[in-house]
Amino acid sequence: MNQGLFINGQWTTGRSTGTREIINPFNREVIATVVEATRKDTQDAIAAARAAFDSGPWPRFAASERAALVRALGDAVEQHREELAHLESLDTGKTLEESRWDMDDIAGIFRYYADIVESDMADSAVQSPIKDSTSTIVREPVGVCGQISPWNYPLLQASWKMAPALAAGCTIIMKPSEITPLTTIRITELAQEVGFPPGVVNLVLGAGHPVGAELAESLDVDLISFTGGIETGRKIMQAASGNAKKIALELGGKNPHIVFADADIETAVDYALNAVFFHAGQICSAGARLLLESSIHDDFVSALRAKMERIVIGNGMVDGTQMGPLISEQHRDKVERAIKLGQEEGATVLTGGKRPDAKELENGFFVTPTLFTNCTSEMRIVQEEVFGPVITVERFETEEEAIILANDTTYGLSAGFWTTDTARQQRVSRALRFGTVWINDFNVYFVQAPWGGYKQSGIGRELGRAGLEEYLETKHVFQNL
Ligand code: NAD
Repeated sequence: MNQGLFINGQWTTGRSTGTREIINPFNREVIATVVEATRKDTQDAIAAARAAFDSGPWPRFAASERAALVRALGDAVEQHREELAHLESLDTGKTLEESRWDMDDIAGIFRYYADIVESDMADSAVQSPIKDSTSTIVREPVGVCGQISPWNYPLLQASWKMAPALAAGCTIIMKPSEITPLTTIRITELAQEVGFPPGVVNLVLGAGHPVGAELAESLDVDLISFTGGIETGRKIMQAASGNAKKIALELGGKNPHIVFADADIETAVDYALNAVFFHAGQICSAGARLLLESSIHDDFVSALRAKMERIVIGNGMVDGTQMGPLISEQHRDKVERAIKLGQEEGATVLTGGKRPDAKELENGFFVTPTLFTNCTSEMRIVQEEVFGPVITVERFETEEEAIILANDTTYGLSAGFWTTDTARQQRVSRALRFGTVWINDFNVYFVQAPWGGYKQSGIGRELGRAGLEEYLETKHVFQNL
């Protein structure tokens, strides 16, 4: 596999002499050593994407020609599913089963956007109020797009950006997280094999500074799409202001998960578990903030605790593992600091909150599944995104109180609640201020439905028709007859 940059249809080590070791978070083994781009390399990639957009064939292809290549890339992901899933699990520590689900979703995402541009990009007419004239609405690609992704779902997040941008006719420069670049390198190789014209798909590797920052600042980039943390999102908004480029931001979340006393409690316990311990809680939509109606609190907490203590922690590459390590030593330090802070604030760690005792896990960046009780809304452990296997539990007495607590957050990515009362299902789903609301479920997403955040969880939407709209301009052509 290549370990360099992909610029204008060529693999290159660029002008850089720097490299970065990519580490398996389960055992700290070096699994690859990749090139670190310089600012100038990033500018070269932007120039290639600019030329391919301004004078290359890609934006001028018929939608059906673009759709054929986008669909072929989805097929290539399906053909290389096992290889890509292995690479993703080695790089992130997540279980192979989770990585396989990611690859299946990714293949479907490319096919979905191929289908909608093919069937749904035709010009439309509006009724002109002016005598002897026509008015036509034309959809066109936005242009050169910088795409910056995080480490938790490296290829899935990259594909949410890549597929609609390419289908729309944009040219792209991808920048994966510096600690998880491997599957994005591999899909770039697949894009090359499938036959995208030079300069349409470009890849730069390296840190937020200088590589991501150059994409955000460049006057030659028309749109920046970013998934990551809120602090970085703010910097990107500022950097993007130089040429008022379009921005699409998918940021963090601290997602409430409410259980009313009339719910199917046994099922809700299982979902509460999965909502947080999937990928060791490193999910923007993790249901990390559990809100329980007082009358069920004690029974629910003890059932949840018992199940948490049975979670099989270990090597994601091994069958039967339910939870892998955190992504890095630095990130584990951050999660451990948050746990300590929660205790200092007065919350109780009922279980977990430490590193596992098992000798064979000592090199991995593990933290045991952690359950905090006696939490109150103003605590930082309740308000701030931990991005680890940590649940906080609060109690409520009434529906109104549950809604107030759930909405008491600067984030607005997702929320879920459990109740069998149909009138309450309607009321609560309307009252929650989040981009996705699940009723009697949690963490369901699919390509047909838009994904994104209210409040400080983001700007714009990915997936669904809305995810394509981000990459399209709208032109009104008026003709005086
Ligand atoms: P991060 O913000 O640290 O980094 C994300 C990406 O931004 C990386 O590629 C990084 O190199 C780059 N970057 C860093 N500084 C930059 C700068 N100044 N300019 C340009 N690029 C820069 O986030 P992370 O730690 O990789 O990912 C975790 C975060 O991502 C969490 O907050 C999580 O909630 C969020 N996330 C959100 C969603 C969503 O759909 N809303 C999905 C996944 C992850």
